[in-house]
Amino acid sequence: MESKINVRILRNAKVAMVPFTDYFQGFEKVDAVRRIFGDKTDEVLKNLKIEFSGRRGYMGVSNIDGHLIVSAEYLNNGDIVDIYLDVIHELTHVKQFMDGKDLFDRRYNYVTNPTEVEAYRNAVEEARRLGLSDERICNYLQTEWISDEDLLILAKALNVKCKPT
Ligand SMILES: [Zn+2]
Repeated sequence: MESKINVRILRNAKVAMVPFTDYFQGFEKVDAVRRIFGDKTDEVLKNLKIEFSGRRGYMGVSNIDGHLIVSAEYLNNGDIVDIYLDVIHELTHVKQFMDGKDLFDRRYNYVTNPTEVEAYRNAVEEARRLGLSDERICNYLQTEWISDEDLLILAKALNVKCKPT
């Protein structure tokens, strides 16, 4: 069958990546980020790579090499405060990955996974420093993949007051 395929396909595809600092600048000066990486902050951010995803979504961290995956659509059109807080959240995962933690531990539900709670805690702490209200923070925490019930569980763990919907 293969002998009937008369085309050439170059099978050396690499995931195209760009430096984090090409798109996210000044994060090395943010106290919340310095608390995550300590004196390794500059070095980590300088070496961090991002991969743009053409799919809808937000951001994530690769469980293969710990690089950041960013939805191009979200970066270009998402709410700027949400994006800022997501970067804090995801940088927490970058650190967890560096520490050898399993970011996708299936033993846990998303909202009770210790790696998620830690990432959300850092983001919420930064949200409070920005002066965001509980209502706005709840709005940030509310994503299409968590149920109303899970939102309240997560909010409780983070000491954010969310009104049941
Ligand atoms: Zn996360």
